[in-house]
Amino acid sequence: MTLWKKNLPGKEAPKSKDSTDLFVQLKKEITVMRKQGEPPLKDPHSFAQYMCDLCSTPHTVSELRQCVLCGRWACDACWKDEFYTCKSCAGIIKIHMIKGKD
Ligand SMILES: [Zn+2]
Ligand SMILES: [Zn+2]
Repeated sequence: MTLWKKNLPGKEAPKSKDSTDLFVQLKKEITVMRKQGEPPLKDPHSFAQYMCDLCSTPHTVSELRQCVLCGRWACDACWKDEFYTCKSCAGIIKIHMIKGKD
């Protein structure tokens, strides 16, 4: 049984059918590193800090956000508010948005 065959969680509330399709397309391309809701890695060297999955620097849990696409935890520097994903997934989204223009 794969979780990914289910419908996407309604949280993102896509504005149009197109953005839903884009999201589905992205889900196929992006490797999921963590399940949604899975906690970030604890920093073994410091108390109450967690690792950013992208740059591997420690942060407090409130400084990290989980990417809705790949599930990685990203710090502020590795986060793209524009898409509400990590910067790695944001790069893939941009490519798709350009491609989808025709
Ligand atoms: Zn980072
Ligand atoms: Zn991501």
